[in-house]
Amino acid sequence: ELDDPTELRLGNRIRLENDVPRANFEDLRRISRQEYLSKREERQVLLLQAELQDFEWEIEQIGWDRLTTKEQQEYKFKKEIFSTIQERWEIEQDMETHYMLPDDYFTEDGKIDKKRKQDTLHSKYNDTAVVDWEADQMRKAVKADTRVPEKEYEFVFDSSQAVEFVSDPVDVERERLEELIAEEEERIKTIDETRKSLPVYQYRDELIKAVQEHQVLIVVGETGSGKTTQLPQYLHEAGFTKDGKKIGCTQPRRVAAMSVATRVADEIGTAVGDKVGYTIRFEDRTSERTILKYMTDGMLLREFLTDPELLSYSAIMIDEAHERTLSTDVLLGLLKDIVAYRPDFKLLISSATMNAQKFSDFFDGAPIFNIPGRRYPVDIFYTSQPEANCLHAAITTVFQIHLQQDPGDILVFLTGQDEIESMADNLAETCLKLGDQIPELVICPIYANLPSDQQRLIFEPTPEGARKVVLATNIAETSLTIDGIVYVVDTGFVKENVFNPSTGMESLEVKPCSKASADQRAGRAGRLGPGKCYRLYTKWAYLNELAANPTPEILRSSLASVVLLLLSLGITDLLNFDFIDKPAPDTLIKALELIYALGGLNENGELTKVGRRMAEFPTEPMMAKTLLTSSELHCCQAVLSVVAMLQEAGSIFYRPRERKEQADKARQQFVQTLGGDHLTLLDVWTKFVENGHSVQWCRDNYVQYKSLLRVRSIREQLERMCERMGLLDNETDLEHDRLVVGVMKSVVAGFFVNAAQLSKTGDAYRTMKKNQAVWIHPSSVLFGLKPPPKLLIYNELVLTSKEFMRTCIPVHEKWLREYAPHYYSDK
Ligand code: ADP
Ligand code: MG
Repeated sequence: ELDDPTELRLGNRIRLENDVPRANFEDLRRISRQEYLSKREERQVLLLQAELQDFEWEIEQIGWDRLTTKEQQEYKFKKEIFSTIQERWEIEQDMETHYMLPDDYFTEDGKIDKKRKQDTLHSKYNDTAVVDWEADQMRKAVKADTRVPEKEYEFVFDSSQAVEFVSDPVDVERERLEELIAEEEERIKTIDETRKSLPVYQYRDELIKAVQEHQVLIVVGETGSGKTTQLPQYLHEAGFTKDGKKIGCTQPRRVAAMSVATRVADEIGTAVGDKVGYTIRFEDRTSERTILKYMTDGMLLREFLTDPELLSYSAIMIDEAHERTLSTDVLLGLLKDIVAYRPDFKLLISSATMNAQKFSDFFDGAPIFNIPGRRYPVDIFYTSQPEANCLHAAITTVFQIHLQQDPGDILVFLTGQDEIESMADNLAETCLKLGDQIPELVICPIYANLPSDQQRLIFEPTPEGARKVVLATNIAETSLTIDGIVYVVDTGFVKENVFNPSTGMESLEVKPCSKASADQRAGRAGRLGPGKCYRLYTKWAYLNELAANPTPEILRSSLASVVLLLLSLGITDLLNFDFIDKPAPDTLIKALELIYALGGLNENGELTKVGRRMAEFPTEPMMAKTLLTSSELHCCQAVLSVVAMLQEAGSIFYRPRERKEQADKARQQFVQTLGGDHLTLLDVWTKFVENGHSVQWCRDNYVQYKSLLRVRSIREQLERMCERMGLLDNETDLEHDRLVVGVMKSVVAGFFVNAAQLSKTGDAYRTMKKNQAVWIHPSSVLFGLKPPPKLLIYNELVLTSKEFMRTCIPVHEKWLREYAPHYYSDK
């Protein structure tokens, strides 16, 4: 009856298109590369499944051979993607039922902290409870899972049944799709309402006019008024993306860039990576179609290397400028130049209420556009005495609020991923113990390494009768707005880079936050109505111990990367570069010295070939130098693996609490005491590859599959760069011992600055250059080794109770003289 197959196909397509938009080919490609799935993508997968069904029906009707080659290819491609996704879901579901413990349950001297250990549930709880709980969690997870059950998946590929399936009047899958479409429509409606209810909306036209009239505009407004999500869209609507140019918006933090891009993509109704995309280090989710690009400030800075006039952008918005990150500060200086020679270029600087005048002055009196915002009163509570254990105090406070206060969500400010995970675990355990005695507490951690579908949870409305508690770092001070927060718990700390120009040492430190930060944090409680803020420090401390404002990062970090970048942009007069706050000349000189010692500068202070290459790598110069050297030593592939593993070093191993001993034993098989943490990490990577990137292998060996997937992606990117630079041309098959030496020497060539020598007394280490006392971190495989290595190089320094060296590798002293003759000439 159907004699014209083309018509059949057409009819079919049209019906499909009326029903639902076809999943886009490009988007599908992207899905296959991502190791996680957001809900949006999930919807697309369902669409894809429907398409495949239709396809199969067509094939059944007209025969495979009568499809065009292109259609055959498309079908094969889509089908392949579909099964990949299916597989990945299974893996992810599996991984999600496993638990990870933060590795920091140690006391100062490296022993397991008995108290904290005891505090954990499992020493008090018997195993049956745990098993029950896990089973329960599993059930919940399965229930909440809207994915296509496996049975139907098989059904799709059973072509004899496919016809029946499609023509069945009660088509379950269709119904499910229709439901989704209805949901989607509802969502779009609410999104539209939200957009219009934001404070910026009233000023939309005025804002557009101001941008048209002024080249530089400072925009100030309360957090949550809609600056980040709306302003780039307004510029787009006002025609700034017409002639193929983009609008860029920088964020100081990765999480913010990802989260905001996802939100804006949702608002516009496109997939992330399509019209709206984001770029963060080692992850680029943009395409040729991207017109609104969110990115970290560091990524825009790197764009200057390839597009020094930023010609692909019609406008840039420097968001959260008040944060004064190193990259933002440098960007402001560079953009000031661009503004001067590109009259068509627009610059928006957006900032929370503080500091606006300073930006205006820097840009020769640029106008300040103030978006009036509402702010409700917030009652502030202080502790009567200093709290010894902040985390403990925070947990207690959360439960006090949960049990005694009116409805409203809680936001807790902590210092980093370790603390967030530890607190999340602890809260979950306590809730489990209390069971039905308390209302439900929805625990939402947020940090950069969290998969993006879990990051989204913080924005989900809280279920009736439950209370949400969001655990965040200072990212929630101004970059992320979470609706519904009524209570803020502020530990009063922040984790920061601290650089000491006299020793040249940089370390991560947990420090008291500033008064300005504390006030911002409190303000989060009063966005939608009156709120309460619980400060876990005394009023006296607030008044006397907190600095008024945070120190701009440029005044407290090593400037090596920035200086290298500026030099490769041809900016040599660093002392006169237009910084909004000039860094200390000492710090600049230290940076130049380091680049010189790394071989990046010659005697005349000019950039060398090595220097230019170092600047090209998206890693710090020391890491780049390590890679460059490894090529000369014929071991670039191995060092690539080490370098990629170092990026995730903190989250490779996991110790589920119920199987700590097995986990430690499993870890032991990778340990290479002679090669320290670096070669231990290399061993994990090598075995992971040898075992075909297998999830099962990861599970058996207590390593985290998700982290290794990230390592794989980082490694691939770095490898492509090395290949382009010809660094892989020297590669030979080295025997094991030579390879070890090659890796060690490469590390020395990059990180000689971080050399530390065993002290005479044998209990601590001293840095080679300045004789500062440092200790091996308890998480290192070298910790407690007898005899301890005489000399080692650390990857990073963390100051907690002591200056700890995290991730270390033993080396020979003669290599220091070989690779850093100038630096260690006095030795
Ligand atoms: P600002 O930059 O002025 O602080 P934003 O543009 O970030 O404000 O946020 C405006 C509003 O958009 C918030 O109040 C919130 O309701 C909503 N929003 C922002 N990001 C998200 C997100 N990732 N998910 C859901 N809603 C969001
Ligand atoms: Mg914002």
